[in-house]
Amino acid sequence: MKKVYLDNASTTAIRAEVIQEMTKIMTEEYGNPSSTHSLGRAAKSILELSRKSIAKNLNATAQEIIFTSCGTEANNWILRSAVKDLQVKRIITSKIEHHAVLYTALVLEKEYDIQIDYVDVKPNGEIDITHLVELLSQEKKTLVSLMHVNNETGNVLDLERIGRICQEHNTLFHSDTVQSIGKTAIDLQTIPVDFIVASAHKFHGPKGVGFAFIRKNSGLQPLFFGGEQEKGLRAGTEALHQIAGMAKALDVSYANLETEQNHIAQLKSYLIAQLKIEFPEFKINGNPDGFYTVLNVLLPFSEAKTAMILFHLDMKGIAVSRGSACQSGSIKPSHVLAEMLSVEDLKKPSLRISFSHFNTKEDVDLLIEALKTI
Ligand code: PLP
Repeated sequence: MKKVYLDNASTTAIRAEVIQEMTKIMTEEYGNPSSTHSLGRAAKSILELSRKSIAKNLNATAQEIIFTSCGTEANNWILRSAVKDLQVKRIITSKIEHHAVLYTALVLEKEYDIQIDYVDVKPNGEIDITHLVELLSQEKKTLVSLMHVNNETGNVLDLERIGRICQEHNTLFHSDTVQSIGKTAIDLQTIPVDFIVASAHKFHGPKGVGFAFIRKNSGLQPLFFGGEQEKGLRAGTEALHQIAGMAKALDVSYANLETEQNHIAQLKSYLIAQLKIEFPEFKINGNPDGFYTVLNVLLPFSEAKTAMILFHLDMKGIAVSRGSACQSGSIKPSHVLAEMLSVEDLKKPSLRISFSHFNTKEDVDLLIEALKTI
């Protein structure tokens, strides 16, 4: 049975070039980058070249890139240190963020007695910018944390616009860019954002590694204490093979961006066209002009079929999801869709279909065929 993987917002397959690079490093470059002997120096050189390469792809400086174990760690670190060390007394975020931001904000609210304000979300899942500006009129040291591309709906936030608004209000701006890094060009010289985060496994790199962009002179302090790695900002021996694999994955992604983007955008349009033919009553959850890799659809099936739909597709070798991967095993409706849909629509099956350049038209056909048999 052919496997059809349409869950690329959860994680992606590693590119062959990345596996090759990582294998080479695991085999030959086992030195500790902090050691002063030649093996250590060779490892350090790979580490710093990886950092430079990542920085170059995002038009940042190498010193602004700090390696972490994942996107979740980077989000936790930034939010926590902003409160603990940068005197942030209020976080403005939205209820459609990833739990790595939402739950962190809730914990900080309890621990530090800070204020959390949620920006209104429109029925199409967009952030209400007028409400954000209203919230920003309060005088209080604030961090705005709003994600770039929503992992469930693919809605895109205008980072540059929000960055300017934050700048005008003398407010720190953090964006969870886990879903967009490697999939769209990001120029950190023109986007006024203080902190962004990335996770390699979302752009065909390895799991268990990510990075944070921390704008120069931000004053952020470490979450972990120990060695002097990452200029003291992230103690712990660097996972060299993971980091080099991540740098390679990002580089290959940006080198092929236009071709892969066109290919994926065509697949998404083709899927929408097929759904219109086979399930004319389907609806798109979120902005129909959302990010090219994600399509979240509400299917006109009965409530009874909702619970079984993923299982049924899985039996046919098709991997999609109902929300973010961390909650797809749960029967609770997605917290993102809960902010957008009516109670009635929330009971119906919504599917998140997310593409990569490895997908083909045949994958879409197989998905449609499988849905027709439900
Ligand atoms: N933020 C978003 C938007 C995500 O989609 C994910 C992944 O599920 C994360 C954060 C967490 O990233 P990681 O798996 O690297 O911890």
